Amino acid sequence: MKIERIEDINLLYQYPENDRFQYAGGICTNRLTTLILVHTDTNHVGIGSVYSHPSLIHLIIRDQLNPLLIGEDPRNVEELWKKMYGLTLWYGRKGVAMSTLGGVDTALWDLRGKSVEKPVWELLGGERKTCPAYASGLLWKEVEKLAEEAGQYIEKGFRRVKMRLARSEEYDTSAILAVRKAIGMDHDVIVDASMRYHFELACRMGDFLKEQKVFWYEEPFAPEDIDSYTALRQVVRVPIAGGENEFGLQGFREMIRAKALDIVQPDASRCGGISEAWKIAKMAEESGLGVATHSWNDAVAIIANAHMVSAAPNGITVEVDQMNNPFVNELLVEPLQIEDGELQLSHAPGLGIQLDLEVIDKFRMGDPLTIPDGVYSDMTFGKSYFPEPIGYEER
Ligand SMILES: [Mg+2]
Repeated sequence: MKIERIEDINLLYQYPENDRFQYAGGICTNRLTTLILVHTDTNHVGIGSVYSHPSLIHLIIRDQLNPLLIGEDPRNVEELWKKMYGLTLWYGRKGVAMSTLGGVDTALWDLRGKSVEKPVWELLGGERKTCPAYASGLLWKEVEKLAEEAGQYIEKGFRRVKMRLARSEEYDTSAILAVRKAIGMDHDVIVDASMRYHFELACRMGDFLKEQKVFWYEEPFAPEDIDSYTALRQVVRVPIAGGENEFGLQGFREMIRAKALDIVQPDASRCGGISEAWKIAKMAEESGLGVATHSWNDAVAIIANAHMVSAAPNGITVEVDQMNNPFVNELLVEPLQIEDGELQLSHAPGLGIQLDLEVIDKFRMGDPLTIPDGVYSDMTFGKSYFPEPIGYEER
């Protein structure tokens, strides 16, 4: 099997007015993701995805990774990962280059599975064809509406939900109480503080989260502020989670060595692909930590993460974006299926997914180098959309 070409497909979706949601970065107007297709001479196509700046992904694929890998055997995943890392090292290591080579890596894992007709979870040594999953939504909206939304996730088959805090101290506490009341003590509440707390506030909130039996306490601080994570972990009794903004084994090694986290949150579409996410999961396991992947771009990333979490002995759960994102809900011929809190995988080879080509055509960006202005949840394009910093009112 030989690689013939690597294709990147940038997808863009503009929310109708009613579906826009508010969060710490403003009002989200658009979503985007990039699919990576690795075409081979055997007509097998490997599928991966990347969540980063689409234009930069396009240039890295077009000018570097595609020419580098043409003619290579895609089953030599580890060797090709090293080549891609070496080629992008000077400007890479963290951020878009690492995410891009990771998208290719995930597509190579898909091909490796397809070539031997085994699912990726089995290649990784896993034994279960499901993976625990949680509903990720509950962004800044009125507290009564949060309760209603949380209840709907349980009805849909989820057993665990994640909500966003860091709006004001009063909002944060009343929002948690409302969601807890809506889903009861038999289901788990996860909270995400979106890097907006300072240390004293984080401690104060931590005590409240402990009382409310919160399942984990995500990103109270910026990823650079490792010392605050370490200090917080010594005083609060709720598992601290982070890592969606970290890249590569070396980035997670720093956090794990500093004893900054209880739960690491790599994302195969950001941190360096299935290969790197798997190494991160292994390192976490050696340190007695759990792994619960981040996902916020598309169903390919969710599935890639799920194969990894399902196979990892310390795998806890995967994130499933509930914000009416068509790249999550419509991209796959067989949509994601959640039963009793478990995302269903299968024995189908590789990632076991098929892309809906009509959906791809519908959302494909005309020119990957021109991104329409807007707030894209994690990225913002266009000066008029840059958010004013939002303050946080404390009690
Ligand atoms: Mg988060």
